Amino acid sequence: MYWNSFVETMPAKDLKDLQERKLKALVNYVYEYSPFYRKRFKEAGIHPSEFKGLSDLSKLPFTKKQDLRDNYPTGMFAVPLSHVVRFHASSGTTGKPTVVGYTQNDLEVWVESLARSLVACGVGREDVMQIAYGYGLFTGGLGFHYAGERIGAAVIPISAGNTARQIELMKDLKTTVIACTPSYMLYLTEQAEKMGVDITSDTHLRMGIFGAEPWSEETRKRIENKTGIDAYDVYGTSELSGPLFTECTEKQGIHIWGDHFLVEVIDPETGEQVGEGEKGELVVTTLSKEALPLVRWRTGDITILEEEKCACGRTHPRIMRILGRADDMIIVRGVNVFPSQIEHVLMQIPEIGEHYMIILDRAESGLDEMTIQVELSENAKIDTTTDILNLEREIAERLKSVLNVWAKIEVVNPGTLQRFEGKAKRVIDRRKI
Ligand SMILES: [Zn+2]
Repeated sequence: MYWNSFVETMPAKDLKDLQERKLKALVNYVYEYSPFYRKRFKEAGIHPSEFKGLSDLSKLPFTKKQDLRDNYPTGMFAVPLSHVVRFHASSGTTGKPTVVGYTQNDLEVWVESLARSLVACGVGREDVMQIAYGYGLFTGGLGFHYAGERIGAAVIPISAGNTARQIELMKDLKTTVIACTPSYMLYLTEQAEKMGVDITSDTHLRMGIFGAEPWSEETRKRIENKTGIDAYDVYGTSELSGPLFTECTEKQGIHIWGDHFLVEVIDPETGEQVGEGEKGELVVTTLSKEALPLVRWRTGDITILEEEKCACGRTHPRIMRILGRADDMIIVRGVNVFPSQIEHVLMQIPEIGEHYMIILDRAESGLDEMTIQVELSENAKIDTTTDILNLEREIAERLKSVLNVWAKIEVVNPGTLQRFEGKAKRVIDRRKI
């Protein structure tokens, strides 16, 4: 089932040709209409007349969040404000918010992209979609709203919060699809239980589209097992237009619509593109946006790119589940390691509690050493020193197979490690002291 089968299944070569043409047009467009990019390109020695297309992509400068902040609110727009029909803005919890403007055509590309995605994960005309993402300056609510209407689903614009009402309407209007954050879905399920409502048997809910915060495969399994629904991952950032891309029913990565967005994965340290199948920072170039076109936008999100054709028949590239933020990356003996990967391995081991600490040191030999302290779970049945040593060895081996680097494991008693209110700080880097 496709929304736009011609585009979604076009041969990879035709898609590349299209990207080639659109990338050249973009470089011309921003040089002509964006004083910001004209200056940037001149500094980098780039002129549209000499730009060869995809093979020259890596010569283009990156665009970062700081650029949007420095040009707050509309200094990076490439159209006069009379062409803008909507604004969205990020919350700005760390510094100035970032403002994104949309022309009529920008909104059209956004709706079309998410409409394709909704159909790809199995939403259709018969569905009732409860949109429990926030409506307003945040892009989640309105993004899903218009895409849901576009494909002919019935939308319930309930927005975030008011959980009792959510559950009541879910029953009464026979909601089949919910869109919200994964953590809100877990909360809603818990509240429903307290109200005596079993999502599996008392509602028509069959699937959910979850995003706007990082979540793991373990959380997907937990949601699916508790509620009996299918859980899908969605990706988008406010700077690119909010929610745009989801997994297809294969659940093997998120399809990025290559006719509108050009993706690369780079090493966040060096800025070089990484090899096939390697993880790195997702960089996106908008190929269709008019009001706020972005050249090589650094999303800060760590993922893996998959360009093989998907079993669903779509030829557009996929990104794997977001592994974390580039800012969180640590380098141990030249290997990029994300705390989220370590957490992922630890949480699969039943004897281990949920608290851990990563400590980095530099030995006298000059080599990095990583120590991971983990707490035993309260109900782990382990009492001999031999058991502890065996457990430590097992954890070290499991981590080595995922991270490609050895860590020294120290299993400690429950309640030993520091607790955090708010954002946990789980990495202590003593190499810089
Ligand atoms: Zn697919």
